[in-house]
Amino acid sequence: LQVAQRAFVILSQPRTAEEYESALRDLEREVDRLIHLSTDLLFLARLDQRRLPWRPQALDISDLLDAVVEQIQPLADAKGLLLETTMEPGLVIQGDPDHLIRLFLNLLDNAIKYTPPGGQITLRAGKEGTGVWVALSDTGPGIPAEHLPHVFERFYRVEKARSRESGGAGLGLAIAYEIARWHGGTIEAQSEPGHGTIFTVHLPFRPPEAHVVE
Ligand code: ATP
Ligand code: MG
Repeated sequence: LQVAQRAFVILSQPRTAEEYESALRDLEREVDRLIHLSTDLLFLARLDQRRLPWRPQALDISDLLDAVVEQIQPLADAKGLLLETTMEPGLVIQGDPDHLIRLFLNLLDNAIKYTPPGGQITLRAGKEGTGVWVALSDTGPGIPAEHLPHVFERFYRVEKARSRESGGAGLGLAIAYEIARWHGGTIEAQSEPGHGTIFTVHLPFRPPEAHVVE
């Protein structure tokens, strides 16, 4: 851990306020990254052990998405990204709100992280025969076809350099995939490199019976 070593060096003799501030900022970033990583690893470990909390209830996907967008809007604003939503109202399904929030936060986090400033992110949702669909599109760099089938794998990152500067572990999409699957749904990615990416989530009105029992 380079940051911890740097903190050790900083503490070894008196420093200026600016040096302390800079070291603290680095530490803060590193702590955030580690919390994020351990939370994600714990989620997947619990899921693999079938010990994930599972509290399905009737919820409106459009309300849930509104709340998620409100939470993430400041990040989009800070990066100069336009975040638009077009949703049919009344998309009621049975699902676990905490998990679904996590699923959509992970997708939105990626869209914001990988789309360059000035870009656009569009969230659409509607009803289909057996449930609801949610599509998130961005005007980012896209994902080359050879990588597309792998992006839902744990620890998979398309460009190591691209991800390293934004600090991801490559777990966000694996978690999104598992949450969709746990609800009896699916998630898929389409991309046109150079133009953008679309992630589409399909969620049934009701999750599989086996999952409804706590
Ligand atoms: P983490 O989500 O664990 O913080 P991450 O964002 O790198 O890290 P994933 O969310 O699983 O990991 O995404 C896997 C990879 O897919 C990313 O590293 C990135 O290369 C690519 N990717 C995901 N979403 C997009 C997107 N909207 N546009 C372009 N590339 C994307
Ligand atoms: Mg991610």
